[in-house]
Amino acid sequence: MSRFAKSPWIIHYDASSCNGCDIEVLACLTPKFDVERLGVVNTGNPKHADIFLVTGAVNEQSAPVIRNIYHQLPEPKVVVAVGACAATGGIFADCYNISGGADSVIPVDVFVPGCAARPEAIIDGVVQALGVLKKKQQEMTALANSLDKVLIQRAQPDDAPEILALQKTAYQSEAEIYGEGSLPAQQQSLAELEADFTRVPDLAQPFGWSGPLPMPVAAGQIVFLKAVVNGKIIGAVRGYQWGEAAFLRRLIVHPYFWRRGIGRRLVTELEQAFPQAKRFEIFTGRESTKSLGHFRKLGYQEFQTAQYSPAVTWVYMQKERQ
Ligand code: SF4
Repeated sequence: MSRFAKSPWIIHYDASSCNGCDIEVLACLTPKFDVERLGVVNTGNPKHADIFLVTGAVNEQSAPVIRNIYHQLPEPKVVVAVGACAATGGIFADCYNISGGADSVIPVDVFVPGCAARPEAIIDGVVQALGVLKKKQQEMTALANSLDKVLIQRAQPDDAPEILALQKTAYQSEAEIYGEGSLPAQQQSLAELEADFTRVPDLAQPFGWSGPLPMPVAAGQIVFLKAVVNGKIIGAVRGYQWGEAAFLRRLIVHPYFWRRGIGRRLVTELEQAFPQAKRFEIFTGRESTKSLGHFRKLGYQEFQTAQYSPAVTWVYMQKERQ
């Protein structure tokens, strides 16, 4: 944690500011305040940043950019909304294309007041952000040290908001491959995810089926699992059985916990939840080489492909029960 406190790296994005707050952010770097002498680095690469500084209100053009930058910051990360516009939309809140402050698209940890926000207030916000960063880092370390205590449990509809947030985070690496919002999992709403507990999502239908399901899958046949450690959900998967086959869908694990066997445990437990199934099926995008390799290690083999969109081709994989 000391490396954050002594040299926090910050990325700044102007969501649609009048430039007033941006000038004040720049003032923090000029000789009068000179935050670089304290180790603060203004980086242009979100993958190098610990703190995401947002100025200005969010509009239709800046919303996907904010989401994209946010998801590229490594965990743990902190968001600081600078100025009234980034907090609430400010004087632009009623404009036709403004959705509000930064928290209308991403979670915000620290709000810096002012119009424009003063440099002293911005520096104070960054100091507060360091405290939040330290807390998050301690939580992540505690979770990482407790991975031997991960429990695989049935998810409940109450878990939907947490699972949806995890899903958006877990699928961000796919967004970098296929583009922001190009996959159904990235676009899914909370109501749609809540409905996944009681019905088969459209894209969970078996390959080649384009109409309504001829044989409804009842709520009891859908199994929704979550991986929990210290009360926090760090992974999930859902699936259902149809005929002799079980269909596994949307395997997600928080990126901080990749390559630690969580995905393997979720898949194995879900397969065991369908003792009557003779065959298991799963799919992913053709360019998702990590997922393809992971599923191959779990015994799945490609058997079919289907074009979902110009950018996305699904690869369907299956394996027989051993
Ligand atoms: S808070 Fe004030 S100074 Fe800052 S971007 Fe909005 S209108 Fe401009």
